[in-house]
Amino acid sequence: MYVLMWSFNMATMRAVQVSRAKGAFELVQRPVPEPGMRDIRLKIEACGVCHSDMFIKEGLFPGIRYPRIPGHEIIGTIDAVGASVKTFRLGQRVGVGWHGGHCFVCDACRRGDFIHCNKEQIAGISYDGGYAEYCVVPQEAAALVPENLDPGNSAPLMCAGVTTFNALRNSGARSGDVVAIQGLGGLGHLGVQFARAMGFHTVAISGSSAKRELAAKLGAHEYVDTSKESPAQALQKWGGAHVILATAPDSKSMQPLIAALGTGGRLVVVGVGTDTLPILPLQLIGATKSISGWPSGTAMDSQDTMNFAALTGIQVMVEKFPLERAAEAYDQMMANKVRFRAVLVM
Ligand SMILES: [Zn+2]
Ligand SMILES: [Zn+2]
Repeated sequence: MYVLMWSFNMATMRAVQVSRAKGAFELVQRPVPEPGMRDIRLKIEACGVCHSDMFIKEGLFPGIRYPRIPGHEIIGTIDAVGASVKTFRLGQRVGVGWHGGHCFVCDACRRGDFIHCNKEQIAGISYDGGYAEYCVVPQEAAALVPENLDPGNSAPLMCAGVTTFNALRNSGARSGDVVAIQGLGGLGHLGVQFARAMGFHTVAISGSSAKRELAAKLGAHEYVDTSKESPAQALQKWGGAHVILATAPDSKSMQPLIAALGTGGRLVVVGVGTDTLPILPLQLIGATKSISGWPSGTAMDSQDTMNFAALTGIQVMVEKFPLERAAEAYDQMMANKVRFRAVLVM
């Protein structure tokens, strides 16, 4: 009886959870979570819907405990902090991305390499994420949001944004270098804008002519339609690419990009295809080409991403959905029908 009354008095929130692998999205009432000593609680304003949310929906990520609230493109205001939190205060607007916390004591953390923490926490996977009215995160996961960014329009900067921004700024390309962005979807439409703002000779690579105008509007200097010519033929005009950022979650479309790299060129893969990527060793050896991946970034990288976007006027193209339509937002995103990021607004 006492327990019942206590739970009746507890504050609850609306949330969308997945109860098991391959389960449906369920709109539920859950207790508002309380922050631990080193945590902060966000009253969530917006959360982007990312392709990687399928890891929770489909049960593809090892060790997920259900029920789980997905969402790792979170923006909200701090409404509670743990007793030992000194850096953040109530009312500050912060964002939380994929990298949702680290241990500070593993070998990678002791080298300051937090993104490679071997106990890395992931928002919406290790703990409940942003498909809800509130969430609790470790303080090191929070990035300060610049005042002039709107939460609903900017939430995807916390994953799609930081991934492309950070991959490009760490790619070794310098101003004036030919940098191609393959795919003009959720990641790619930001990649093109970042590449242009970073001063690269920016090439958009797409599988049809449909996005030619859009690419120009986003700042691309050149447009390659791979239904008309191979990326290799096209990129030769400019000496081959120094860097190609592959954003389409489709391994088959990445394979022809190796031939489009110039000497010493590098294919940076951020699109999560589920097929193998077939590459002949000879394609890499002669011209010293390489392939690498890039995993999003830390909270400070996200903060840099948002500041850079605010500074240079980079805009995420979003379609907004209320929280209760999360399932529809997810389906539209998976069917590649969203232009270009779905965002839940609370
Ligand atoms: Zn993501
Ligand atoms: Zn660590």
